[in-house]
Amino acid sequence: MKTYDFLIIGAGSAGCNIAHFLSQEDKSVAVVDREGIAGGASGAAGAFLSPLPGKQNSYNTLVNDALKYSIDFYKKLIPNAIDIHGVLRVPNDNFNQKKLQDNGIRYDFYDTKKLQNISKNFREINGYFYKDAAVLEPKTTCNKLLENCDFYIKDVKALSFKNGLYEIEDLQAKNIILAQGVSNSLVELPYMKISPVFGLRIDVKTTTNVPFNLHKSISVSSNKNDGTLSIGATQERHDTQQMECLTTCDKCSFYVNTDEQQTKTLLKQADELIKLENLEVVKTYKGARATIKSYFPVIGKAIDYENSIKKHPSIKKGTKIPVQELEYYPNLHVINALGSRGFVLGPYLAKILGENILYDREISKEISTQKLFYKMARTT
Ligand SMILES: Cc1cc2nc3c(=O)[nH]c(=O)nc-3n(C[C@H](O)[C@H](O)[C@H](O)COP(=O)(O)OP(=O)(O)OC[C@H]3O[C@@H](n4cnc5c(N)ncnc54)[C@H](O)[C@@H]3O)c2cc1C
Repeated sequence: MKTYDFLIIGAGSAGCNIAHFLSQEDKSVAVVDREGIAGGASGAAGAFLSPLPGKQNSYNTLVNDALKYSIDFYKKLIPNAIDIHGVLRVPNDNFNQKKLQDNGIRYDFYDTKKLQNISKNFREINGYFYKDAAVLEPKTTCNKLLENCDFYIKDVKALSFKNGLYEIEDLQAKNIILAQGVSNSLVELPYMKISPVFGLRIDVKTTTNVPFNLHKSISVSSNKNDGTLSIGATQERHDTQQMECLTTCDKCSFYVNTDEQQTKTLLKQADELIKLENLEVVKTYKGARATIKSYFPVIGKAIDYENSIKKHPSIKKGTKIPVQELEYYPNLHVINALGSRGFVLGPYLAKILGENILYDREISKEISTQKLFYKMARTT
């Protein structure tokens, strides 16, 4: 039996980032995943790191603060696997010109003429250029994050907690962190209603120089060191019959044989931004990212809903019960619902969660498990 301070379930951006943070704090950490490192949504991600423009609100403030932190973090961690060339945001229905202009982030407007002076392959588009944007290689990043942790391939079916320790086959640990993405949670967390949103990324070879990332409804990256570039989007929800993700998208009957049509659509959307010459599709990746209705990610202690309500039934009528009086699963934390920005939020959330666990630093309400708990308790 091998004993660790922390055992983390899930080796995606969430799990790898919290594992990295804790290992930097001299904790012994093991990470387990049934699919390998970055075998879920994280391996499929385009891994674009882009600002979220628009009038300031609490969500885009979180994203933009996280972006600043994460770009600096990755620059130190993986200087050779991050390309920081900025992003051109082309207006669409969700982000019209007003929204792209009306924000505190510095931008330059590029009209068609300016773009076509940069490359004759740009279509008749214009857009807003934000210089602090990047793209990274997600598998390389996750592998690097786990450099000082042990990793095991395991499909964890249940958690067993005895004498103050969690046991998973031949591993044991005082603390567990669930970083399971769209998979069913290993403990009941009814207030965290995760929806899977499916997406596709394709890596292509092209002789066209793409000087910076482009984003409209989909994203096109600048050329990477390995001679490819990525085109990606996540936009399709599971139908309601299939809300539970029991496997990765690659093996899910819902998505088998959907690549061809989806690839065509992505290439068509990319072609509306820039003409990619001598195009060859090298690889396609499928994945489902985890999102909750509010779009905010969720981190913190895992609250035991049933027992908290049993202990304080008046919560349901709106009585304010302090968070310390709720019932929690012992030494069990979660980090999930990173949405479409798992690589932007990962390092930032890991720092906040890690400091909460080790030093009792507060987690802001918006991203806490407690917020979701109270919301559900008071509305059902
Ligand atoms: C096509 C696509 C494009 C994307 N593009 C971007 C982008 O450009 N920028 C960006 O920042 N984000 C992007 N995202 C979102 C990003 O990928 C996710 O937010 C992020 O990967 C979520 O990380 P995670 O660790 O929470 O989940 P995951 O990466 O899914 O990791 C969860 C892991 O837990 C494992 N697991 C679960 N339960 C168990 C169990 N019981 N036992 C063992 N293992 C278990 C799974 O196998 C899985 O590997 C994209 C997503 C997709 C699908």
